[in-house]
Amino acid sequence: MKVVLAKDILKSNDDKAAENRRAFEKLGLFTLNLISSPGSGKTRLLENTVQRLSSRYRIGVIEGDITTTRDAERVARHCEQVVQINTDGGCHLDSKMVSRSIEELSIDKLDVLFIENVGNLVCPSEFDLGESCRVVVLSVTEGDDKPEKYPYSFDRANVIIINKIDMLEHTDFDMARAEEIIRQINRDAVLFKLSAVTGEGYDAWIAYLENHAFRKK
Ligand code: MG
Ligand code: ZN
Repeated sequence: MKVVLAKDILKSNDDKAAENRRAFEKLGLFTLNLISSPGSGKTRLLENTVQRLSSRYRIGVIEGDITTTRDAERVARHCEQVVQINTDGGCHLDSKMVSRSIEELSIDKLDVLFIENVGNLVCPSEFDLGESCRVVVLSVTEGDDKPEKYPYSFDRANVIIINKIDMLEHTDFDMARAEEIIRQINRDAVLFKLSAVTGEGYDAWIAYLENHAFRKK
């Protein structure tokens, strides 16, 4: 019985996600779903990314959080179109929440839409939001065993970002080992190693976004 129920939930989520995707594709809007554990530096990464792109692109952000609006406030300093979703205890975003929030945005006037998921590496990976690109962020302070522990998240990523590389020397994170495991799980994801604090490694990530945001124009 439980299994059937879970399947139904995922099926209705997939249907709505397909609807979102059609709406995004019709507009040629590049959308990214950012997934990570809490504390990976995802919001900081998003803040800096938006800051670097905002003079040239029209950017929207959907901020998923369990209760607070702190992350949305941080991002809103660099971008006008920000919508906050409070999941009210829920540990992931779903496609219905995203569908409701895009009604609050003028998505026809955007080039890029970032969706910051709730900090959690487990169920966000099960819920398609209709995004064009799924980004999984891992920081070196979390340990190099994360991909091994949460293979489903890494398996479904289009982009994998290893963040906080400025902290590398203060941790026992083994970059070669992490990359090897990531490649065993996901051969095709584009991998970026960067620091949202020092800006190291950012140029490649920004170039990737620019290529994709412009691709359909
Ligand atoms: Mg955050
Ligand atoms: Zn969840």
